[in-house]
Amino acid sequence: MIRAEQDTLAHNYHPLPVVVARAEGVWVEDVEGRRYLDLLAGYSALNFGHRHPGLIDAAHRQLDVLTLTSRAFHNDRLAGFAEGLAALTGLDMTLPMNTGAEAVESAVKIARKWAYEVKGVAPGAATIVVADGNFHGRTTTIVSFSTDESARAGFGPFTPGFRVVPYNDLPALEAALDDTTAAVLVEPIQGEAGVLIPDDGYLAGVREATRRAGCLFIADEIQSGLGRTGTTLAVDHESVRPDLLLLGKALGGGIVPVSAVVGRRDVMSVLRPGEHGSTFGGNPLAAAVGSAVVDLLATGEYQRRAAELGEVLREGLTALLGRGVTGFRARGLWAGVDIEPSLGTGRDISERLMAEGVLVKDTHGTTIRIAPPLTITADELRGALGALEKVLG
Ligand code: PLP
Repeated sequence: MIRAEQDTLAHNYHPLPVVVARAEGVWVEDVEGRRYLDLLAGYSALNFGHRHPGLIDAAHRQLDVLTLTSRAFHNDRLAGFAEGLAALTGLDMTLPMNTGAEAVESAVKIARKWAYEVKGVAPGAATIVVADGNFHGRTTTIVSFSTDESARAGFGPFTPGFRVVPYNDLPALEAALDDTTAAVLVEPIQGEAGVLIPDDGYLAGVREATRRAGCLFIADEIQSGLGRTGTTLAVDHESVRPDLLLLGKALGGGIVPVSAVVGRRDVMSVLRPGEHGSTFGGNPLAAAVGSAVVDLLATGEYQRRAAELGEVLREGLTALLGRGVTGFRARGLWAGVDIEPSLGTGRDISERLMAEGVLVKDTHGTTIRIAPPLTITADELRGALGALEKVLG
């Protein structure tokens, strides 16, 4: 099966050599019936675990009545989804899309239009300030402001209008803001870069700097949001509200691709009929699953679990410091773990963990990420940390 994939699929990924056939909760099973604990959780798209019963039920019920209308017509699920998102995030309006990259692209368009129509930036001159090491997706515009050569090389010409500043460096950010700045776009925690957590005060500083400069703050919480860090959003750790919030991944419950730009009414209102859209964006199946996700988060249970189990994760990783782990960064149930280079690459460690029945994925070089479903138990998490200890030993 792996050979057939090699022959018939573009080689844009390098998957671990496991062929998954079914999954339930935090466990996946391969075609030969071997079980693995899933510590990647679909890059955080499976925050609620595989096939969460409430989400599967919401999807089944919707499949039985209506799946797609396109936005040419109204559907009876979309308004409820947007109301739920507004209540969950403290923002006003939603633009529903499908993938994370589409949400980012949509926010770029909204910010530019806002800059021309509201801020009064000269036509074609709007800039967006981003951070180095960012990961916001794979479209041509998004890779235009990536600083990862493997994401960019060979894909030019690139979209202009972006300024890159060092992450977690407020003076550099402030120096990049001027009359042309439409927005600052950052990940509150940089996931793909290795779970880089900025210093306390950075996000509040970005909020303050953007307010002073009269530009928008766009928080890309596609990976960091929806419970992962122990709060609904990663910006909640600094009690910060962005102007535009980007959600994706877990918003679709691991069932359907669902993303959204959620934002302030006055900003979102720059979009008018015919100026932006998506055939599948806001479809009733996506809205039904997305609403069920919002309902799960409204209970606070998943955020609480992430915070509590995050302590177990932190304790376990602390115990491995100097014993194969050279450093780690963790918030909630999310960690970037740096492995002693002499023990192998992140890929090597991932393959050895796989042999122990634990699935993780490397990020860069010798860093692996740990991001289990938020439904994992403390014992399962300790078991996974035990496997890591064994592999490093
Ligand atoms: N933004 C962030 C912070 C991400 O981590 C990702 C995906 O990893 C994306 C955007 C892109 O999402 P998608 O792969 O759904 O396009």
